[in-house]
Amino acid sequence: MSTPQLQRLHGHCHRLRLYRVEAELTTLLEQAAKRDLGYADFLDELLALEVRAKAEKHLAMRTAMARFPFHKTLESFDFKFQPSIDPKVIRELAAGRYIENAENALLLGPPGVGKTHLAVALGLAACAQGVRTLFTTATGLIATLGKAFGENRLDERLKLLTQPQLLIIDEIGYIPIDRHGANLFFQLVSRRYERGAIILTSNQSLGAWGDVFGDPVIATAVLDRLLHHSITVNIRGESYRLREKLKAGLLKPKLGTAAGAAAEPTP
Ligand code: ADP
Ligand code: MG
Repeated sequence: MSTPQLQRLHGHCHRLRLYRVEAELTTLLEQAAKRDLGYADFLDELLALEVRAKAEKHLAMRTAMARFPFHKTLESFDFKFQPSIDPKVIRELAAGRYIENAENALLLGPPGVGKTHLAVALGLAACAQGVRTLFTTATGLIATLGKAFGENRLDERLKLLTQPQLLIIDEIGYIPIDRHGANLFFQLVSRRYERGAIILTSNQSLGAWGDVFGDPVIATAVLDRLLHHSITVNIRGESYRLREKLKAGLLKPKLGTAAGAAAEPTP
């Protein structure tokens, strides 16, 4: 192939943003000639290469935009260690129908049982399905909303937080939320109600949320919207962080752990 033609092909690829094809053009042409590929087969391979590259790039971008604290998947989650979780319920969540239906998932349980791991894994699964996702902690979220309120930009911020189809709010209950924060949180939950899915993790049982929000009326209003279309996964068990110590017999397992069914879907 003449050099001007090769240069022209590079130019076309660039103009059409076929960057992967552009980068591998010479090799692709050489290989096609060697393998005596037909026109359709050559075009098929070439376009498939670009489609794969673009899909990978989009996934990487979506995953970066989700701002996960770490990347852990369901494959690396040991369900045997936490028998109070029904793997079927988690796999069903991973399939993503709750996101399409703008439903919520609540992961509840004591520290170290894998709530954040599961929330991230479900978030990564959502990203892989092309879902716009955002991960935040409750504290970070309320700080962001409080700042926006102070700058008279609450509405703008609430709109932004309504855009991701899946919002993950980690760690409700570790730090008490003041009345103003609770009010802002309520506004966000109201905006997303029946519009966008939320995954929420908490170390507190739902009954204790009145204390977390410092106001039982707001807590009830928040829960009313969150629970209307939702799946609750109650995790009862030992902290995975302490498992090595448990294994070595340095700690005794708590009584009554790992008992009972895990998921309690609400109507
Ligand atoms: P929580 O959010 O409930 O406090 P994390 O999800 O942060 O707990 O889990 C603590 C650590 O233990 C993380 O590194 C997590 O990946 C790991 N972990 C927890 N449960 C499991 C599990 N069942 N299988 C594999 N790793 C787990
Ligand atoms: Mg956590």
